Amino acid sequence: MTPSQKVLDQQRELDDLIEAHINNAPRSLQVEPGPSEIGIPCDLRLGYKLLGHPEVADRPRRLPWKAWIGTNVHRGLEELLTLANMSRPSWSENGVDRYQLEQRVTVGQVDGTDISGNSDLYLDGVVWDWKIPGGTTLREYKRNGPGPQYEVQAHEYGLGWELRGYPVTDVAIYFLPRDQEWPQRFLWSAPYNRDLALERLARVDGIAKLTRALGPAALPLLKRRASWCQSCPWRLPGSQDVTRGCPGDPDALEQAASELSDLIA
Ligand code: SF4
Repeated sequence: MTPSQKVLDQQRELDDLIEAHINNAPRSLQVEPGPSEIGIPCDLRLGYKLLGHPEVADRPRRLPWKAWIGTNVHRGLEELLTLANMSRPSWSENGVDRYQLEQRVTVGQVDGTDISGNSDLYLDGVVWDWKIPGGTTLREYKRNGPGPQYEVQAHEYGLGWELRGYPVTDVAIYFLPRDQEWPQRFLWSAPYNRDLALERLARVDGIAKLTRALGPAALPLLKRRASWCQSCPWRLPGSQDVTRGCPGDPDALEQAASELSDLIA
């Protein structure tokens, strides 16, 4: 049955409210990378970020609906675990939270600037991070693990908690399905690796110092490595000048070209 005009009018009203709310959510304008970006394997992408280089990717501006779902799953988990804290018998006596939620941690400095972020959960030596991927990405994580960016991010948060004076034994990423059922969830975990966290921080610190010293002239010196190029804000297909935009990962391009020539041959 076709909806009545009244229902269609109400749909428009509701859509306007929902879209305005999601589109007006505060966005980060910070130039320095957060702990989630320290592990980006592409030095050039980090260089653009550190320089505050204008985004060049010509992507259709979509309502960030999936990101909004992820944000609200985080909020729901925080609410659930806050109630779990308060319902523990010892909480009314000592007020100590078993589940430490959304705490701000500083993982170190990049070119003199603190790198801080909110950690989803600290629980008795284990630093947890929630991820809410769609089905295809979730299958990819199950096959190949979380990838370098998320893995480093997990250890950076571990470092942040350690610097706050908390013992850290393990890091864990809990992938909770955005569009599948609960049994499809996937847990990745590793012993906390302080050296990895410090090494990546030092790498980004080096890139930051280089970009501060040379400005955009530093960009051609930075190594490119595929890192979700399709969603990279600085991807400019065919670009010959990385100070304008990046054509993509050279190895990936080479591989695609050789696969194409295999097909043609
Ligand atoms: S398009 Fe890919 S290779 Fe180029 S800067 Fe972005 S992530 Fe790096």
